Amino acid sequence: MTEPDAIGALSAAFPGRIRTARLADLTTWRIGGDASVLEADSPGMLEEVTGTARDLGVRIFVLGRGSNILASDSGCDGLVIRLSGAFRRILWRRDGDLWRVEAGASAMLPGLAGASCMKGAAGLEFAVGIPGTVGGAVFMNAGAYGASISELVYSVRYLSEKGWVTAGREGCGFGYRTSAFQSSTGIVASVALELRAGDAAALMESASGILRKRRESFPLKLPNAGSVFRRTEGAPPPGRLIEEAGLKGRRAGGAMISDLHANFIVNTGGASSGDVTDLVGDARRAVFETSGVSLVEEIRYLGRFGGQTGGR
Ligand SMILES: Cc1cc2nc3c(=O)[nH]c(=O)nc-3n(C[C@H](O)[C@H](O)[C@H](O)COP(=O)(O)OP(=O)(O)OC[C@H]3O[C@@H](n4cnc5c(N)ncnc54)[C@H](O)[C@@H]3O)c2cc1C
Repeated sequence: MTEPDAIGALSAAFPGRIRTARLADLTTWRIGGDASVLEADSPGMLEEVTGTARDLGVRIFVLGRGSNILASDSGCDGLVIRLSGAFRRILWRRDGDLWRVEAGASAMLPGLAGASCMKGAAGLEFAVGIPGTVGGAVFMNAGAYGASISELVYSVRYLSEKGWVTAGREGCGFGYRTSAFQSSTGIVASVALELRAGDAAALMESASGILRKRRESFPLKLPNAGSVFRRTEGAPPPGRLIEEAGLKGRRAGGAMISDLHANFIVNTGGASSGDVTDLVGDARRAVFETSGVSLVEEIRYLGRFGGQTGGR
């Protein structure tokens, strides 16, 4: 069966649930063509859809808030699944000096971090300005200012090809901006976090300070996907390397290497995915020539790029 036929069969199995959507509307870079998208609003629905998709040979891509994604202008094949409904739930429980929080994968990280501060639960302040979902944060091991979500994870519940699994932190293979989910097909459904009890007023002040700092250092007024490149161990931060290579402000079509923070590429209006990949290539080449460092992307690719299909 061809992929369009398989998507047709999937649509017939889940009437009215699969729509065609522009990835530009589902990603913070506001770039990307059409995709078949389904919202799974319960664990049962997710299990059913992924099982049927597997039987039909349909590839699956789980999209969170799309804040770390470059989606191709030519869209993507297969099925994009977004989690909603029951996956947004957050449960709080105070246990002496600990707060135990169970957050659904599609809960937004800034909302969760802000609510933690207000409740007097410490540890997530670093995440107030990271505009992704909890599931995306676990997948990426999102972090900032020397902290990352993995340090707070007690367990992660995910759907594997063999069924539901609850893995403790050790079983999640966390590293710098990486997790075991990047090399598996597991779909994160929820995460249990352990936060320390703290002073709500002090936590809120700390979170406000972090937001202020981010507003000053990052080009937040134009669509972007955060840091384009990962840090290389032992090397200066990618932003500094790109700046030293003289690329701040470099443009390709509607995309530009930010003149505020060179590890951000902003969409100044109508940028294509090709404009962004041109700048990514320019930055990699220039940084290698000037410093010998081979930059590696932190962003993830979705869809078709020059004969290659970006996926998980
Ligand atoms: C302005 C801005 C600032 C940012 N600052 C930071 C920062 O300080 N630190 C940082 O770490 N990141 C930062 N980011 C990047 C991004 O917000 C994080 O990587 C975030 O964790 C991605 O979450 P998401 O829901 O948007 O995931 P997406 O971008 O939608 O997806 C990212 C990857 O996660 C996978 N994924 C998403 N949800 C699931 C799930 N439930 N199960 C399995 N796989 C899943 C996707 O398949 C994809 O491969 C920033 C981005 C922006 C736009």
